[in-house]
Amino acid sequence: MPKIKETRLEIDLKALAHNFNVVKSQLPPSTQIMGVVKAFAYGTDSIVVGEKLVELGASHLAVAYIEEGMRFRRRGIKVPILVFYPQLEDLSKLIKYNLIPSVYNFYFLETLQKRLNRRKINHFPIHIKINTGMNRLGFDLEDLSMVKENLLAYNRVKVVGLFSHLSAAGNEKENDFTNQQLNKFSLARSFFKNEITTNFISHLANSSGILSHSDIAYDMVRAGIALYGYGNNAKEQSLLKPVASLKTIIAQLREIPKEASVGYDRKFKAKQPTMIATLPLGYADGISRIYGNGNAQVLIQGQKASIVGNVCMDTLMLDVTGINCKEGDEVEIFGQQHSALAFDKNKQSIPYELITRISRRVTRVFLDE
Ligand SMILES: *Cc1c(COP(=O)(O)O)cnc(C)c1O
Repeated sequence: MPKIKETRLEIDLKALAHNFNVVKSQLPPSTQIMGVVKAFAYGTDSIVVGEKLVELGASHLAVAYIEEGMRFRRRGIKVPILVFYPQLEDLSKLIKYNLIPSVYNFYFLETLQKRLNRRKINHFPIHIKINTGMNRLGFDLEDLSMVKENLLAYNRVKVVGLFSHLSAAGNEKENDFTNQQLNKFSLARSFFKNEITTNFISHLANSSGILSHSDIAYDMVRAGIALYGYGNNAKEQSLLKPVASLKTIIAQLREIPKEASVGYDRKFKAKQPTMIATLPLGYADGISRIYGNGNAQVLIQGQKASIVGNVCMDTLMLDVTGINCKEGDEVEIFGQQHSALAFDKNKQSIPYELITRISRRVTRVFLDE
C-alpha cells in the first residue's frame, strides 16, 4: 500500500492525565494509585505512558511479566513494580531489577524462599494474592494457616502487600457477589494483620471497583482500563477520554455496480450501486476478522461507515455510499471521536481486547500539551 505510513495510533497524554485525575477524584486522598501498564500499557506504549503515570503521581506500576518490568527499570523508573505473573526461572531478574512478585501458590512461595535461603537474601518483598471468588489465581482463605507456616519456616520474604481481584465489580446485578468477595478479602486481611505483619498495603479495586464502588479503596487501587479512557457504562464513559485513537486515510475509492462483490470469498455483494473505500490496515494491524461483514463502524467526515466483506491482512473495505469523502481523507477507526465501544457495534469484544491488540507495526504518535 502506498500510504501505509498514514496509519497511526495517536496516544493523547493529556487524556491520560485527565483520566488519572478522574480516578484520583473517586478515591480518598490517602489512597495510592498503582498504574497498570501490562501489555505495552494496554497497547499504547509502555515506556512513555508508564513515565507519564509516575509523573502524574502513580505510586506503583504493575505489569504481567518480568520482561515488561525490566523495560521500566532500564528507563530509570524507580517506583515499586508489581509483577502479576512472575516466572520462577527468572528469580535472578526479579532480584536484579528490583521487581515485586505476586505470589499466589505454594509452589512459588516455597521455591522462592528456598532460593533466597541459598543466596542468603532476607526481607525479599512480595505481594500475596488471595482468591476471593474469581477462581483464577490466589490462595484460598483455607490456605492461610499453611501460608503462615510456610512464611515462618523460611522467614526469607517480607509480605509488603496483600491483594485480590474482583470478578464483576462493574456489573450491578452481581453486587451481592462483589460483597462476598469484599468480605473474604477483609477476613484475609485481618488474618495477616493478626498473625503475620501489620506493615503491608492492601489493594483490591481495579477500574470497575474504583468507578462503581467508592468504598473499597483500601490503601491502594490498581487502575488499568479507566486510565486508558474506558468505563463500564455511559455515565462512567462520559467522565473519561479514550487515550488511544487509531487513524488512517482512505487509500482508494471506487463505485461498484449492483451485484458486484467485495473482497475475499465475495462476502459482500452490492444490492445497489455502492461506494467502497479501502483502508490500508487489516488484521495484521490488530483489526480482527470478527469485525468484518458489518460488525464494526468507523468514522469518516463525521459519519459512520460499516466494514463490508472480510477484513484482509493489510486492508479492509467500507461502504461509504452517501458520505462526502475522497481518497486521502482521514478516518478514525476508534478513539476520541468514535470510541472502541462505538467501533465494536455488535459487541464482538471489549475495549480491552481491541486496544491491546493494535500491532507493533502501527506507528505510535504521542500528543502532549
Ligand atoms: C489487568 C489487571 C488489573 C487492571 O484491571 P482494569 O480492569 O484494567 O482496571 C488489576 N488487577 C489485576 C490483577 C490485573 O490483572
